[in-house]
Amino acid sequence: MQQYVDHDPSPKASDFSCSFLTYDGHKGTDFGLRDPALLDRGVFVVAAAAGRVVARRDGVIDKIYTAEDAERVDKIECGNGVVIQHDNGWQTQYCHMKQGSVTVTKGQIVAQGDPLGQVGVSGKAAFPHLHLSVRQGNRVVDPYAPNGRLSCDGDLETLWDLTPAYQQGDLLYIGFSDRVPEFDDVKMGTVPQELTPQSPALVMYVHGFGTQKGDQLELEFTGPAGTIAQQTITLPKDQAQMMRAIGRNRKADWPRGSYTATARLIRNGVEIQLLQKDMRID
Ligand SMILES: [Zn+2]
Repeated sequence: MQQYVDHDPSPKASDFSCSFLTYDGHKGTDFGLRDPALLDRGVFVVAAAAGRVVARRDGVIDKIYTAEDAERVDKIECGNGVVIQHDNGWQTQYCHMKQGSVTVTKGQIVAQGDPLGQVGVSGKAAFPHLHLSVRQGNRVVDPYAPNGRLSCDGDLETLWDLTPAYQQGDLLYIGFSDRVPEFDDVKMGTVPQELTPQSPALVMYVHGFGTQKGDQLELEFTGPAGTIAQQTITLPKDQAQMMRAIGRNRKADWPRGSYTATARLIRNGVEIQLLQKDMRID
């Protein structure tokens, strides 16, 4: 869970926990992918509750949104999406699904848990994710705070059967490459990953979300011959999506064997996440 419903009517933004994992006017909950390779492999989006499909769209390309896409996605910000009408005026809407993945038709009756399509990055989406909106009539409902009351102390009465944990930022994924990757490739899982003794550089990168100004990011990259790179970074600003990379250019062939990347996110002296990943050069 990376972004939540905005409860602040002003141009500022607040999620249900009185924190910052939202943006002004956001009307839903965003589910990201921890491993970007899941975008290609396919993650099903399922109906939150039983109902009837009253709208569906498919055919919008999967692309990370930038300003130049504004005209293309005008009025189709949801991308490939489905709207389900439930009892008592409740509606759920599912957005940004993968092109060609939407499996339901308008008028179809669905049961809770029925697949609707797959997670994608169509419409106005800055990273691959499912955006879920819940409405009753015209009222936006936050499934974490259905009565609209903020719960700054973490005391929750939610709409979820099992309430997904709220995490105030996290490291999602460590990867390796022979170059500093483009951020869009990191998000889409399309970074070149193959490494050999002749690779021009060895780079480790880490992808995170909800990082804050002042967070410490400790990165360490070691191999059979010792440390390849090591850096502690104080993050200079709040970021909904964050990527950092360290590495070294090749001077001689990289030794064959096992390499380890470690990334640690620390906030106010407390470790939020520790990720570690191994790879081999053979
Ligand atoms: Zn969203």
